Amino acid sequence: MPHEFGESFTRHMVTAEWSVEEGWSTLRLGPFADLSLSPATVGLHYGQSVFEGLKAYRRGDGAVEVFRPVDHSARFARSAERLAIPPLPDEVFLEALDLLLAADQEDLPDDPALSLYLRPLLFASEANLALRPARTYTFLLIAFVTRGFFSDTVDAVTVRIGREYSRAVSGGTGDVKFGGNYAPAYLAQEQAVREGSRQVVWLDAAERRWVEELGAMNLFFVFGTGSEARLVTPPCSGTLLPGITRDSVMVLADRLGVPVTEEGITVDQWRQGSRDGSLTEAFACGTAAVVTPVGLVLDGEESWQVGAGKAGPVTLALRDALLDIHTGRAPAPDGWLRTVARG
Ligand SMILES: *Cc1c(COP(=O)(O)O)cnc(C)c1O
Repeated sequence: MPHEFGESFTRHMVTAEWSVEEGWSTLRLGPFADLSLSPATVGLHYGQSVFEGLKAYRRGDGAVEVFRPVDHSARFARSAERLAIPPLPDEVFLEALDLLLAADQEDLPDDPALSLYLRPLLFASEANLALRPARTYTFLLIAFVTRGFFSDTVDAVTVRIGREYSRAVSGGTGDVKFGGNYAPAYLAQEQAVREGSRQVVWLDAAERRWVEELGAMNLFFVFGTGSEARLVTPPCSGTLLPGITRDSVMVLADRLGVPVTEEGITVDQWRQGSRDGSLTEAFACGTAAVVTPVGLVLDGEESWQVGAGKAGPVTLALRDALLDIHTGRAPAPDGWLRTVARG
């Protein structure tokens, strides 16, 4: 299938370096090409590396729009600071997006099902195996075309409660986009897939009771139906990643008149609520998959269906509200979009 996530990249990339002596270099636009790295590169050995993931969409009039780049830049800086990496200034982050989009926006076809996924990366590039923060860093920005989730049918996924491993701990790095958060999740993910589910539900590491995230997506729960519907999402307690999509869903829910609260929800509440019908929908959200409904939950010997086991009305309304902003069919809140004119 063409446009498989993260497989084939656009023609260019933007790079910059940071050193103790010089600070940030100017940004360079060049062809997408292999890097030349010392075998002693700090980022490879000790994982001093952070990233972002954001999308650009083609609007009806041909312009390209980046979704919430200022918020992604702020999170990129927060991630960097947590890993003792010098943060990239916001204006440099935005300039890098402009440079790459000016060069590569023709790679994004005029097809509303496709978007451009932008991947900023910042890693320690110094060749030195001392256990201390590196003295040189490389920033780069690459992009690939990806399939949006534009069809009218949205398949609900089966998920598995992860009981063996933890994704994040209090005081750790779970609240930032640090490269080292992802590989430790692979075993749990493989196990979930072996058992016929798509993703792992991460619980809090201390009590293994509170629901935190689904794979690398944030979770929302709907209680009630119709005008009584309300949304619940776990609070940003420091062990979940504060998603920009999560924040966007909260803003759009408010626009739709659906109240949202950030409050803890346990696995028991999820199971009980699904069985007694008070919990009517659940969905996950993130930049890559936008909004993904949860239909069935597996937990050891137990399993339960959420609502009707398919995308519910609140989930679909929020997904449509988000897609309408991406495609320019609905006005975005101030400051959400950065427009790059067709070159
Ligand atoms: C990136 C990410 C998310 C989603 O964040 P968005 O800004 O909405 O893309 C959620 N959880 C984890 C662990 C992530 O890495």
